[in-house]
Amino acid sequence: MKLLIDEQKLTAEIEDLANFSDADPPAVTRIVFTPTDLQARDWIRARCEEAGLRIRQDAIGNTFARWNGEEPDALAVGTGSHIDAIPNAGKYDGVVGVLGGLEAIRALRRAGFRPRHSIELLIFTSEEPTRFGIGCLGSRLLAGALSPDDARKLTDKDGASIEDVRRQVGLDGSLEQVKLPEGYYKAFVELHIEQGPLLEREQVPLGVVECIAAPASLRITIEGAGGHAGGVLMPDRRDALCAAAELILALEHAAKTSGAIDTVATVGICDVFPGAVNSIPARVRLSVDLRDTDLSRRDSVLKALESASRATAAKREVAIHSELLNADAPAESGPEIVAALSQACLQHGFAHKIMTSRAYHDSLFISRIAPVAMLFIPCRNGYSHRPDEYSTPEDIERGTLVLAETLATLAS
Ligand SMILES: [Zn+2]
Repeated sequence: MKLLIDEQKLTAEIEDLANFSDADPPAVTRIVFTPTDLQARDWIRARCEEAGLRIRQDAIGNTFARWNGEEPDALAVGTGSHIDAIPNAGKYDGVVGVLGGLEAIRALRRAGFRPRHSIELLIFTSEEPTRFGIGCLGSRLLAGALSPDDARKLTDKDGASIEDVRRQVGLDGSLEQVKLPEGYYKAFVELHIEQGPLLEREQVPLGVVECIAAPASLRITIEGAGGHAGGVLMPDRRDALCAAAELILALEHAAKTSGAIDTVATVGICDVFPGAVNSIPARVRLSVDLRDTDLSRRDSVLKALESASRATAAKREVAIHSELLNADAPAESGPEIVAALSQACLQHGFAHKIMTSRAYHDSLFISRIAPVAMLFIPCRNGYSHRPDEYSTPEDIERGTLVLAETLATLAS
């Protein structure tokens, strides 16, 4: 079988999809279930229908585009990613896995391949946490990693619940129907940009992911006492931002001294109330993002953060409340898929690197119900989640070709 990727069509489609955006080009903003996101979904569905795929959408808007195999009742082989984009993001995150997945399927069809197992392109709802505060909403529900009841408690910043929003956009059915049965997928493989610098730095065109790091996120609220910046003397202060600063540094220290380079901790949001130049911060809200490839090491950093919170609260007479939003286990890739990906790279003479994904993806959750693996392509300077995110057409083509070969192997 000779597989040919239509690189020009794929590149043009990536550009077309980037036009569905609430930001000025080259930035892309596409928040789940906004009018722009809905238009982009319609556009993708039309591309899938053009390719002869059968479309199904579940109650949270995960979209399945299926190419029926010769044994339609056999377990399916899945591929796909997401098309939602955080504010002021780029064109490639998620999109390469969706449009590359579609092109891989088209290339297999053009080559006359007949899959035994059905091949399914899956477009996940809300991989990004922008709207509802939790990442991988669609894949968590598919895998049963988030219960429908917990999902129903989620709201956006305007207070609209998931149920309100999905009904508004015409998604019927109940969230209970979203979870896929165990054994729905024989294998799931996600093509994605690396979102890190290693492939480019080492000049290796492809990365085969053998492990996805375990993420945890927390929201921490620190309540101190406000007051006049001139009037309240230093010994009398209970400054919430000073307490926050101690916590942030304690977290950094715990991550840096965990014993492994794979431990990463970030405080990306610090909301200060009342936020006035001459007012002592009375309340601070922090968001904490913590990841590691090793669960016990990640959890030991969480514990260090807890004990720093207790110490800071006592020392500074502030109240510290922390809410664990998620603490997920890492995912190991399915050896069969890693082997198929590596074999496809070898077959085409492409160098590849076995690596870890420090960013998490929908595949992390799909790994709870099926063997998964991911294929990374380089992105310039490792940039992602910013408008100058970029992968070359050649790298995208190479990734798509290896994906297509791998889908063929897995679906035979
Ligand atoms: Zn992504």
